[in-house]
Amino acid sequence: MSDPQCLFCKIVAGQLPATVVYQDEDVVAFRDIAPQQPVHIVLVPRAHFAGLNDLTAETAPLVGKLALAAKKLAGEQGVAESGYRFVSNCGPDAGQTVHHLHFHLIGGGAMGGRMA
Ligand code: AMP
Ligand code: ZN
Repeated sequence: MSDPQCLFCKIVAGQLPATVVYQDEDVVAFRDIAPQQPVHIVLVPRAHFAGLNDLTAETAPLVGKLALAAKKLAGEQGVAESGYRFVSNCGPDAGQTVHHLHFHLIGGGAMGGRMA
């Protein structure tokens, strides 16, 4: 369940440097290399699959684990009360660039433009 060509699989495997801020048996979270806000963390499952289109009943619990990790990190990073977004881009119209399921935790500044 990993793709040797995948950037995020390489980070999960420790083959590519990243500032990891949380990890457990299923989830790895690291700082985005091009932050959009003072807090910008990417949360990924250790297992590789391309995105939400590939989610199955078997892998769906991972999304809850990613959300729980995001909640914990939001508290630690001091944005739980000020607010944050927890977003997954899926496919070209959403601007997905890395095809390993991930969520962005973004906060620390006011964000214009509702996404939904
Ligand atoms: P997306 O555009 O939703 O697919 O998100 C991919 C995110 O990964 C972007 O916000 C990138 O800035 C980020 N990113 C790309 N390469 C790295 C890297 N080596 N380390 C940390 N974040 C990265
Ligand atoms: Zn991957």
